[in-house]
Amino acid sequence: MEAVHEVFNLTIPELGEIPALEKPCLLCGRRDFTPLNSFVLNQRRFHTVRCRHDGMMWLDPQPTEAFYQELYSQRYHAAGPDDPLLEQATLDVHSNPAERQRVAEIRLQQIEEFAAPGRLLEAGFGHGAMLITAASRGWQVVGLELDQGCVDRMHEAGVAALRGSLLDYDGEAASFDVVGMYSVIEHTLDPAAHLEKARALLKPGGLLVLRLPETAAEGPPASLIAHTYHFDAHTIMVLLRRCGFEVLRIDNFALWKPTRYPGELWNMNVVSRKKNRNVPTL
Ligand SMILES: [Zn+2]
Repeated sequence: MEAVHEVFNLTIPELGEIPALEKPCLLCGRRDFTPLNSFVLNQRRFHTVRCRHDGMMWLDPQPTEAFYQELYSQRYHAAGPDDPLLEQATLDVHSNPAERQRVAEIRLQQIEEFAAPGRLLEAGFGHGAMLITAASRGWQVVGLELDQGCVDRMHEAGVAALRGSLLDYDGEAASFDVVGMYSVIEHTLDPAAHLEKARALLKPGGLLVLRLPETAAEGPPASLIAHTYHFDAHTIMVLLRRCGFEVLRIDNFALWKPTRYPGELWNMNVVSRKKNRNVPTL
């Protein structure tokens, strides 16, 4: 195997040893890939790889669920701008409140082009500007977040929020008009399970709104431990269709420029609608 670009080699003692598993392609199930870049964390080497058959990209191997539970409940939202591992966490969490508010308004305007205010669930709400803004516009909101501090801040703001992941949420089936996941799906160990759970929670014709990086074929500029899957417009559309959604709109949304690594990464907003599987299509 040809040597690939090494983004960093880092030891963070408090993370300890990182258990990790090799993963097949999310779309075709094969392990026939091209390595794009790599990094070493606590003596373990990770690669960003690209499937030779369908272009799906992912982190390989991937740390286990327990590692990410710990990461997102303890460290992610508390990361400072100098944290070398979690640079991505500083984007939303540390940007200024006026900017958060502006972004939340844009996101809601986009949703309201397709749906009147009703029940909205946001998984992985972080600072919560989206939930607070949605509530002020007449939406009945529920938020899910792994970090108890984020949940406490929503309760102080009078917003319904629970600690936990989408997969563990026991909300009523077919009860939401909108499910939003902003900067979430690329962090999960099982994106298809998240889309299927969102589908189960949505009413017929309900909207799923995702924000995620649109990664170029050469891979992301900085493949950090937090991003487990790297999509582009094609691969997310394939996965959404497979999970029972019709894609209505894909927009470029914002550009991310890492401060520590060269290169940049576009994000996209993807609006899709739950399809009724029982209706035959001609
Ligand atoms: Zn594949």
